[in-house]
Formats: sequence, structure tokens, C-alpha cells
Amino acid sequence: MEQPRTALVIGGGIGGLTAAVALDRRGGRSPSSSGPPRWSRSGRASRWRRTPSARWTRSRWETRCARGPTGRGGELRLPGGRRLARTDNTAAVRRFGGPVVIAHRAELVALLAARLPEGAVRTHATATLVDPGDPRPGGRPARVRIAVPNTADADDGGNATADHHTNDRDNTRADPNGNDEDTTPATHPDTTPATHPHPAPDLELSADLVVAADGIHSAVRRAVFPGHPAPRYAGFTAWRFVVPAPDGVRGVAHETWGPGGVWGTVPLAGGRIYAYATAAVPAGGRAVDDERAELLRRFGAWHHPVPALLDAVGPAEVLRNDVYTAATPPPAFHHGRVALLGDAVHPMTPNLGQGGCQAVEDAVVLAHEAAPDADLGAALAAYTRQRLPRTMEVVRRAERIGRLSTWRSRPACALRAGLMAATARLAPDLALRALDGIADWRPPAGTYAAGARGTRTAARREEQE
Ligand SMILES: Cc1cc2nc3c(=O)[nH]c(=O)nc-3n(C[C@H](O)[C@H](O)[C@H](O)COP(=O)(O)OP(=O)(O)OC[C@H]3O[C@@H](n4cnc5c(N)ncnc54)[C@H](O)[C@@H]3O)c2cc1C
Repeated sequence: MEQPRTALVIGGGIGGLTAAVALDRRGGRSPSSSGPPRWSRSGRASRWRRTPSARWTRSRWETRCARGPTGRGGELRLPGGRRLARTDNTAAVRRFGGPVVIAHRAELVALLAARLPEGAVRTHATATLVDPGDPRPGGRPARVRIAVPNTADADDGGNATADHHTNDRDNTRADPNGNDEDTTPATHPDTTPATHPHPAPDLELSADLVVAADGIHSAVRRAVFPGHPAPRYAGFTAWRFVVPAPDGVRGVAHETWGPGGVWGTVPLAGGRIYAYATAAVPAGGRAVDDERAELLRRFGAWHHPVPALLDAVGPAEVLRNDVYTAATPPPAFHHGRVALLGDAVHPMTPNLGQGGCQAVEDAVVLAHEAAPDADLGAALAAYTRQRLPRTMEVVRRAERIGRLSTWRSRPACALRAGLMAATARLAPDLALRALDGIADWRPPAGTYAAGARGTRTAARREEQE
């Protein structure tokens, strides 16, 4: 009897979890011994960093998963309140075949994790690539070492997994609205090897495929492409928070561009508001007092509802992250039996709201190409061919917009506003145009969504629906 193929995913963010779900659904269609090999269950994740997310665009799958409201559209404004342009979601549907869907990152991550088989996700474990393996038929498997917190946690039936506690891009604050980026959830006491009184020995696992979704500072990327330059600072920092909508804050999204900074307000499901702001500042800075005070200084005099939102948020609920982008395209999105995806391989500025979306696309395409009976080497090469040029174009486009947003000189900003207003008059769907060739993406035919029929996970999901 042919052994099922095994996949191990490093990283439990949006990219890693989507890959785990997609590979799980891709496999299992032919459980008979004479059928093609299948992927065994995979997955791995960490504590979920509850970061507010923003504009998760596109696919029906995502719409179902996200459960967020489809936004009612948005406005582009100036700090005094003048409206430069407006978009609505019917225009998005016309243009891209579906609405813009807003989802809270923690909720999306929870939905993805819930679609994995019981026990597939291991939290609080750190994975290190030991050997990328050889993808040729009969070639050696990839090997991954996992630092497990204690012996009890190590037993997950051999379906390895890993995830990590930290992401130094992020702050570590907790708040009741789910803004905590990387704190230990109350339900998962921290048992890192460093602090546990009886740390277990590391576990070494082999897999036919390793998916490296270990985020912007990816150690796997550094290991397989040691000469590849690290992501570089994009020239601005970003703040984010989620609050219950204060009285008088209506449900229309806006993005407001001022000298050297941008403010965005996005309604979320459940009467909450997601707010974000950016400012062109040197890397590594922190407010002398607290980040809410910094936001008040920079944006407190901007138009409604910015002051109302700042009134509604507590200092500890504001996240701040410097923004980084890929310095150059990597040589490939794969090496040996390792596929890299998400921020690990194409970090981008958030100006198009595409980092997470592109990670989802990566995962879908990878699962499509790496079918259980496919030649793995050819599948991974096809994955790179499809994903590298597309994501690098998104990186470039996002960065261009990011650079525009950092203009500080008032005459230059006045010129920018004039151009935006004029362009919006001539081309009313200005903001949507930025997503042409991006938001109209369609998954390859016969992906995991179709393959899901009949799998254990799909059956469970159907029962729930
Ligand atoms: C301010 C801001 C706003 C954004 N807005 C949007 C938006 O509106 N829409 C959108 O689509 N995207 C947005 N993004 C981008 C989006 O957040 C990222 O692109 C996305 O989260 C990347 O997902 P990922 O799974 O690749 O990486 P991550 O979410 O970073 O996940 C990586 C995971 O791997 C774990 N890990 C790291 N090393 C190891 C290890 N050795 N072993 C085990 N686990 C490990 C980490 O702990 C982490 O859990 C935004 C980003 C920022 C900074």
C-alpha cells in the first residue's frame, strides 16, 4: 500500500493555515490503497495574533469564510474633510465579480483553524528546517526540527507541525477587542522551552513537503536563500486598533490623506470599527509617552470620525508596526521540497490590503499544483512560475502607493490632492482601479474547494452548515 504524502506547515498565520486547509482538502479524495497517494493532514500554528485586518478582497471562498460585512464602499478625503473620491461595492462587484469583504484577522484565522482536523495544529513550538530534501521521485524527504514545550505536547500522532511565539515586527499588547498581536492567549499558558521546568527534547520530523509560512523574518527563507537581502523598511510606520463604533460614527469607510500621513476607518461586523494610520518616520521609533497620544498629536485635528475614534480607544489597544517590503524578488518560491509562501517570501506594504490576500492565493495555487499524485519537483516549479511574478508586481504596486503616501511637503500634497480629485472625476472607480489585475484573480480550476467533497474535513463542515 502506498504511503500518504506528508506535509508540514511552519507558521500559523493566514498563509500557513490556508495552506494547511488547502492541502488537507486536496488530499483524501482517494483513500483506497490503490488510489493515488494523498497528503496526510498537515497544519501547525501558533497563538493567533489578533490583529485587525482590513480589506480582504475577493473569492467566494473568502466571502464565506470571512463572515465579515461586505463594505458599503468608501471615500477618499483630505484632513479637513473634503471628499476627493467615492467608491461603492456595486462598482467592485461589476469590476471584479465580487464585493470587497472586510474581515477581522483573528476571526479569519479562527475560521481557518476550525477547518483543520482535530490535533493538526500545534501551538507554541518553534520549527527549524534541517534539510530541504530532494523533490525528485525517491529523493530524500525534508527534515524539520521542532522545539516542543513539554513531553505531553509533543504527542500529536507524528503529523508534525510547528509554530512560533514571536514576530518581532509586531508589538505585544493585549486588549479586549482582539488587538493583541502576539500575547499568550489565556487558554494557552506559555510553556516555552526556556521557562518550562522539564523541557522536552527537540522532535525531528520528515515530510514530503514543507510549507514555510513563517512570516516576514522567515528563518526558512534565510536558510534556503542565504544571500537574499532581508526586507527593507518602506519609510513609514503603521498604527492599528479596533473599537466598538462610537455614537455618531456612521458605517462608511474612508481613507484620508494628509501631509506625511494617512488615516483609514473601516466598519467591521458586530458594530466595531477598525482604524489604521500611517506616518513617514524613521524606522524603530516609539512614542515618548504612548501610541494613542502620538496618534492624537498627529491626527487629533483631522475630520470626524478621527477624534471620536481616538477618544474611544485606550493607549494599550493601539498597535504600532514599522512597515517593510521585499528588497528584491527572491530566486524562487521553492527550494528542494520546501515551498515558501506569504510574508516569508513576498512581504509588501499594506497600501493595497494585499499581504494576507496574496498569502491565501499562494496557498490555493500550491495545493492545486502539489496534487497528491503530482511530480513534486515539477509542481513546485509551477508554483514559483505562477506566484513569483504576480506577487512581485503586487509588491511593486503597493510600494508605489506607499511612497506617494509619505509625501510631506504641503505644495506637493496639494498637487497630489488635485490630481486625485481630477482623476476621480474622469475615472470614478479610481480606488478600485488600483486593484485591476489583482482583485479579479480566480483560483485554478479543481482546487481544494472541489477536492473538499468527501473529505473528512468537508464532511464535518457540511454537518455544521
Ligand atoms: C499595518 C498592516 C496592515 C495590513 N493590512 C492588510 C490588509 O488589509 N489586507 C491584507 O490582505 N493584508 C494586510 N496586511 C498584511 C498581512 O498582515 C500579512 O501579509 C499576512 O498576515 C501574512 O501572513 P503570513 O501567514 O504569511 O505571515 P504571518 O501572519 O506573519 O504568520 C507567520 C507565523 O509564523 C510564525 N513563525 C515564525 N517563525 C516560526 C518558526 N520558526 N516556527 C514556527 N512558527 C514560526 C509566527 O509566529 C507567525 O504566527 C497588513 C499588514 C500590516 C503590517
